Amino acid sequence: MGRVDRLRTVIVQQHVEAMLIGKAENRRHLTGFTGSAGFVLITASEALLLVDFRYVEQAAAQAPGFEVVKADRQFIDALAELVPARALSRIGFEADGLTYKQYDEFSKRLAPATLLPVDGVDRLRWVKDGEEIARISKAVEIADAAFAHIRSFLRPGAVERDIATEMEFFMRRHGAEKEAFETIVASGPRSALPHGRAADRVLANGDFVTLDFGATFQGYVSDCTRTVVLSEASRKHQDIYGIVLAAQQAALQGIKPGMSGKDADALARTIIAQAGHGDAFGHSLGHGVGLAVHEGPSLSPREEAILAPGHVVTVEPGIYLPGWGGVRIEDLVVVTENGCRSLTRAPKELLIL
Ligand code: ZN
Ligand code: ZN
Repeated sequence: MGRVDRLRTVIVQQHVEAMLIGKAENRRHLTGFTGSAGFVLITASEALLLVDFRYVEQAAAQAPGFEVVKADRQFIDALAELVPARALSRIGFEADGLTYKQYDEFSKRLAPATLLPVDGVDRLRWVKDGEEIARISKAVEIADAAFAHIRSFLRPGAVERDIATEMEFFMRRHGAEKEAFETIVASGPRSALPHGRAADRVLANGDFVTLDFGATFQGYVSDCTRTVVLSEASRKHQDIYGIVLAAQQAALQGIKPGMSGKDADALARTIIAQAGHGDAFGHSLGHGVGLAVHEGPSLSPREEAILAPGHVVTVEPGIYLPGWGGVRIEDLVVVTENGCRSLTRAPKELLIL
């Protein structure tokens, strides 16, 4: 079933007559259109893509199955003509897509039609097709190469911010459109910050250095974390690293379709808790990745959703000890028919650099 037809099943389930899509990832996923602005209006029989004058030609080329509508003024002005002309009375919108200001204005201008919040549009992106997995794999490959490249830069005296810049430059030079998110380089005690932005800290002997990075390739992203230690690994470095690695490997071996996100999370969390560090693993085990860096399904203690073949998720346990340092190891995997397959190839034995 095509993507528009799958959205039409949401329209039926949610008892609306049409869906108005404004979120960038959903707009791109449905249409193929990569422009920065626009709305999609799907009814039982029509698929419209509203764009402004900058994008008319591009939209026609990228979204062949759609009727491209040029909005001369604001998008709502075009919608205020399209909706009554089709006698639509119940229009769904992404509950997390419109701002309150847009909702308020759209509701007034489209009355007597009503706008109804709908969940479940993002979920149409969860199962990736072969082409999407190929793009994500390429984004992973670029990031893996960046990690191999950066190893020789990870030396006492190097500055976190310079390392992040070098990785991002490398990824762009090797086919990435851009980095997937702001590269994290967190060294020494800062490695205990799960999302420590690269700063001015100078790397020193005995530091754990956590690098969290990813590339964007044809709209799709990758997400990888590696933690290395500089010069020498103490017993404590080895112990903490070993627990996180064991937790990650248990999850990689155990994740399979039919399992809930909650159960997947528990595969790793149990091992970290049994080692006495349950409180030091304060985030989810993983999240979906695709056009967005963070999408569903999540692997978290609260996620009831069931994993299915084609889901692409991170597996990223961590232990963070304030004032001392932390370790996170993150791979990107695709759920298969009977388990999961890691796309990430970067080495993950403890590297002492
Ligand atoms: Zn990450
Ligand atoms: Zn992640």
